Amino acid sequence: MDIKLTQIFSNVSLNLGIKHKIVSEYYSYKHIKNTARAKKGILYVRVSDKLKDAPLEIKEALAYILLSKIKGTRVAPRYKRTYNDFIHELIINEPSDITSGLHKPIGIYFDLEEIFYCINNNYFSNEVPTPALRWSKKKAYRIFGRYDRAKNEIIISRLLDEKKTPRFVIEYIMYHEMLHIKFGFTYKKGRRRVHTRQFKKEDEKFPFYTESIDYLKEISGREKRSLF
Ligand SMILES: [Zn+2]
Repeated sequence: MDIKLTQIFSNVSLNLGIKHKIVSEYYSYKHIKNTARAKKGILYVRVSDKLKDAPLEIKEALAYILLSKIKGTRVAPRYKRTYNDFIHELIINEPSDITSGLHKPIGIYFDLEEIFYCINNNYFSNEVPTPALRWSKKKAYRIFGRYDRAKNEIIISRLLDEKKTPRFVIEYIMYHEMLHIKFGFTYKKGRRRVHTRQFKKEDEKFPFYTESIDYLKEISGREKRSLF
């Protein structure tokens, strides 16, 4: 049992008027997944260990989502939004390493250089200095794009270099990573923050923002079943 996590869930369950005793733990699911089930008056909660370092507000939002379901009441939209925003960030730009390797920006179906120039022209008045651009060596299925500040390099998962990938999805990831070049990062409460409110506002301005996120969510789910 994780005491801190259990405390968070217990507080939320009190607020929701749930009488169960809570037992919670982090669990190493392959993908981000969280479960809650009631058994003999005890509520067993399992939270993906990928959320271990998530801020308190994310864990609270998750508690409201899971426990509202148990109670059969509607989840307040702000909790869903808070949680989903966080997950999207994890999906799109996980800080862990996207496998390195020297690869050219020209893929089989998409040329990252051409897409970069196009996005720079359409959304950034050509003001973003050209970084190194390449496809990842491996077909990363949870980390779709990454901006490596030290190397000044944008890497996009080779998984997306497919005929079926809508061009707007690659354009969106390029746009997102270019925003990282534009905005840099700030510190808040000792944590390095890259997805600031201002960043998110700009990110959501991309015309196919929702469609791109939905597509990435879908393929990260589908890949899971085909890989394991
Ligand atoms: Zn990002």
